[in-house]
Amino acid sequence: MNHIAENLRDIRTHLPAQGVKLVCVSKFHPQADIMAAYEAGERIFGESRVQELLQKQSVLPEDIEWHFIGHLQTNKVKQIVPFVSLIHGVDSPRLLMAIDKAAQSANKVVDCLLQVHIAQEETKFGFSSDELLEFLASGVCDELPNVRLRGVMGMATFTDNQEQVSSEFSTLKNVFEEARKRHFSHSDFFTEISMGMSDDFELAVANGSTMVRIGSSIFGARV
Ligand SMILES: *Cc1c(COP(=O)(O)O)cnc(C)c1O
Repeated sequence: MNHIAENLRDIRTHLPAQGVKLVCVSKFHPQADIMAAYEAGERIFGESRVQELLQKQSVLPEDIEWHFIGHLQTNKVKQIVPFVSLIHGVDSPRLLMAIDKAAQSANKVVDCLLQVHIAQEETKFGFSSDELLEFLASGVCDELPNVRLRGVMGMATFTDNQEQVSSEFSTLKNVFEEARKRHFSHSDFFTEISMGMSDDFELAVANGSTMVRIGSSIFGARV
């Protein structure tokens, strides 16, 4: 017996009624669990592996909005572009260009978030705040008509230190605001700040998150 509907009700009581989207992170969890969340009214699901996403997308309801939240390899882009609703972790110009190219072939425009590296932990993924602003200033994006930048995404350091986590989220909010002011002041689309997971989503919301990505608090521990 699982408690998915109950978990979702609980999470929903900690989210504002409007303005924050819930991405149910279903990676490693079976289709039946996704269907339990679907029947509880959820429509946005996040996956982090291409093969798993393809497999689930092919058998689950068509009105599910699939978000790709993991590290995406350029050589796998074209497999998900035909149906994916939002790619959260665009962490390099090269990947954005590959998405544009695949989207062009699929004759669509793909929504993307640029991943910003806000945590203190070492990682090779994501733009620094400065790199993000430089990239936007470079004008490269203006030549990519088949991607639409919707905002930014980030992950805080895995720590109990709430002040640190809060300050990292606030850094992401600030770089988003700066990018919007400099480059998207006339856009209705650059609106999203994807931040917050099971353990830190309330801090993320307090710091301006518009999209939380929650897995284990809904579906239980991943095996
Ligand atoms: C797995 C994952 C999540 C969900 O993490 P939980 O702690 O289970 O809520 C969120 N974002 C990304 C990028 C992930 O890979």
